[in-house]
Amino acid sequence: METSRDTNPNNVRVFCRFRPLSTNEAQIFQTKFIDISSDCKSIIIQPSKQGADTQIFNYDHAFASESSQELVYELSAKPIVDSVMHGFNGTIFAYGQTASGKTYTMMGPSLDSSDHVGIIPRTISTVFSEIDNSESSVEFSVKVSYCELYMEDVKDLLNENKGKLKIREDKARGVYLEGLTEVYVSSGEEVYELLEYGNSNRVVGFTRMNERSSRSHSIFTLTVSQTNTVDLSQKSGKLHLIDLAGSEKVSKTGAEGTRLEEAKKINKSLTALGLVINSLSKGAKGHIPYRDSKLTWILQDSLGGNSLTSVIITCSPSLYNEDETISSLRFGIRAK
Ligand code: ADP
Ligand code: MG
Repeated sequence: METSRDTNPNNVRVFCRFRPLSTNEAQIFQTKFIDISSDCKSIIIQPSKQGADTQIFNYDHAFASESSQELVYELSAKPIVDSVMHGFNGTIFAYGQTASGKTYTMMGPSLDSSDHVGIIPRTISTVFSEIDNSESSVEFSVKVSYCELYMEDVKDLLNENKGKLKIREDKARGVYLEGLTEVYVSSGEEVYELLEYGNSNRVVGFTRMNERSSRSHSIFTLTVSQTNTVDLSQKSGKLHLIDLAGSEKVSKTGAEGTRLEEAKKINKSLTALGLVINSLSKGAKGHIPYRDSKLTWILQDSLGGNSLTSVIITCSPSLYNEDETISSLRFGIRAK
């Protein structure tokens, strides 16, 4: 069991991305309350109330509403995908309130609209094109898994008959989900089919899909292993691509019963994630509280150490969402 290891603060990068105003928002609250600095590193929030101070939040890069999926991929994901191809682990998160653009950023508007696809499909195409262009002396194997964490229960999205998966830990394998389906794949098309299949399992179990998907974390994992057939050296890199549950506060939705329980669990796991990322980005050497939530525990091997992490904070540009936006922006600052 590994609870402390050296971390490099530069291995954690934090981005923020504002989506365009939605049609509804444009009709009600057009007011612009944020500015992005000319070097794209800071968000400047003009005070909405008299007497309040201007707030400035700094990031590795701040993406304006018109930023393309390609730019977001190139800056926030590509360096991690490259390092996974070199045998390191990595994790990319989208964090933000419901409807702020997490799924758009990770997946895209839909899997078949090729122009605007998000980080996951772009990652898959990078991986397979690099494999196609690699030296013939290197043999690759790629496997994927897809699971959902809802109310602290882990569900296998590639096999709905599996029931709740347990987290296990041993010396050889590190931290893993017992019985999680892992599928070996040899083309991007196969991965897209699995993604669609997994997404349909999120829907089937719960027809109020929007509700469920915004109340659960989804974790898509790609493992690339390679063997050099000349010197028999081996390496393996694992990449987690995560669409987190909505970060909105409970009070806004006036939740009770199940919704309240969900909200508490989400809040607990997002807080734990913030603490872990915060410790890592400070280069902490001591205890990192991975086990405070299932989310951080599952990701333990791919957060910290040599692993690269990107956190993409997604935000609405509407003044209507100002409080949630500021709270998300703060999460990103703590993560730095
Ligand atoms: P979340 O997953 O955070 O709940 P979504 O990704 O579903 O939010 O985004 C909410 C809506 O906004 C969707 O209709 C989505 O297509 C749109 N959207 C989000 N981000 C962008 C963007 N950067 N450009 C254009 N449309 C976007
Ligand atoms: Mg979503």
